[in-house]
Amino acid sequence: MQKLEMIYEGKAKKVYATDDPALCIVSYKDDATAFNGLKKGTIVGKGSVNNRMSNYLMKLIAEAGVPTHLVEELNDRETLVKRVKIVPLEVIIRNVAAGSFSKRFGVEEGRSLACPVLEFSYKDDALGDPMINNSHILALELATEQELETISNYAMKVNEVLKERFLAAELELVDFKIEFGKLPSGEIVLADEISPDTCRLWDVHTHEKLDKDRFRRDLGGVEDAYIEVARRLMGN
Ligand code: UDP
Repeated sequence: MQKLEMIYEGKAKKVYATDDPALCIVSYKDDATAFNGLKKGTIVGKGSVNNRMSNYLMKLIAEAGVPTHLVEELNDRETLVKRVKIVPLEVIIRNVAAGSFSKRFGVEEGRSLACPVLEFSYKDDALGDPMINNSHILALELATEQELETISNYAMKVNEVLKERFLAAELELVDFKIEFGKLPSGEIVLADEISPDTCRLWDVHTHEKLDKDRFRRDLGGVEDAYIEVARRLMGN
């Protein structure tokens, strides 16, 4: 497999073409941003933790029957993935109130929700990723009814797998964001990443935050939190 030119650079990852048009290489950076790019920084070691953790979790998810873009981890920071067209939706699942949910509905952070909440944001930085509902998604043709149903079912399944795995590591999965992609065949697969950048993870006993909120809210100990999550999940 030959790594060719960079085809995309996002806030946390670079994507490279390969000599196989159906595959590309994702390279995870230590760069961190928050509040739609307004806050910028570096979290040393984040790229490696997010790469390894995302691959570890995607394997579990695939075993549970949800297809993913993962092909093969190449090294600490780089992974070979299937080339997909990203569905322009941030798919968010919440088990406990936090962040924008707490603000929007005036609910204290930490309140357990009676059932998991599934919500969508329209992936558009210029618009600030506005919340969007099923009806909007269909009207704007961002996904078909069938795709939306598949995405919703997959997201709920991902929540079940992740909740259980994190709990075994004494971590509470408060909420998370995932993204899906479309293969040339039309098949929907889980893409992007699953990491402390995209999940809220609290220690089950102390409720200490072990995720990107340490960076967003200037809580300190950011690097150590990422390393601690990796250690609890993967032993390193
Ligand atoms: N999230 C994310 N990327 C985004 C927005 C949210 O990964 O662009 C994750 C975030 O880390 C949290 C969940 O999605 O785990 C819900 O985030 P929320 O809507 O509460 O927004 P936030 O408070 O992060 O602005």
